[in-house]
Amino acid sequence: MIVAIDGPAGVGKSTIAKFIADELGLYYINSGSFYRAVTFAHQLKGGNCLDQDAVLKTAKSLDLGIINSKICIDGIDVEDKLHTPKVDKFVSLVSNDPRLRELINVLLRDAAVSLDVISEGRDITTVVFPNADYKFYFDASAEVRARRRINQHPEGQTYEEVLEGILVRDKNDREKPVGSLKIAKDAKIIDTSYLTIKQVCEKVVTAIKTQ
Ligand code: C5P
Repeated sequence: MIVAIDGPAGVGKSTIAKFIADELGLYYINSGSFYRAVTFAHQLKGGNCLDQDAVLKTAKSLDLGIINSKICIDGIDVEDKLHTPKVDKFVSLVSNDPRLRELINVLLRDAAVSLDVISEGRDITTVVFPNADYKFYFDASAEVRARRRINQHPEGQTYEEVLEGILVRDKNDREKPVGSLKIAKDAKIIDTSYLTIKQVCEKVVTAIKTQ
């Protein structure tokens, strides 16, 4: 069984997918963390994130995978290193390269082989798992998403900086030549703007149980 969720940055996909994974006994796969891990590793070695060939070389050199639903490089959990402003700023550009996308799509599909999974990202319902059993598209205004980010991580950036980052990332994610963020025809749309995490989870679980 595959549950696929897409939606823009900061809409609550990962928080909700984790809850649903626990509730329904599914394996959680966060596709954004693969793009983040490549961006992080490339930055760590001082590479230029705008040089697609160099980024691809870095990606191919990494042993990237999920262990216990956590993204690992060479078996080491790097999840807590991937949500920095520096990674946020470049990850969307890094993920523009169709060759990198294909490489990561293979890893995502391999991770899902013979497991019941819930996966989320930008092109999960459309490209990675177009035949998923259940598809959802989460949405919320950019302002609501920026406010949530600030509440979760009050240190560091101002509301205006976070909002600006979200708007830039939204635009790039929607305009990618391959794997752009769009709503799959058969996805159920959930506007999470004025819903609690619990309410969104209930909607998703009800949709899965009644479909
Ligand atoms: O979901 P998250 O915000 O962690 O994703 C980071 C970035 O990775 C996104 O802004 C997007 O550019 C890229 N991404 C993607 N395709 C996916 C998941 C993430 O292009 N399936």
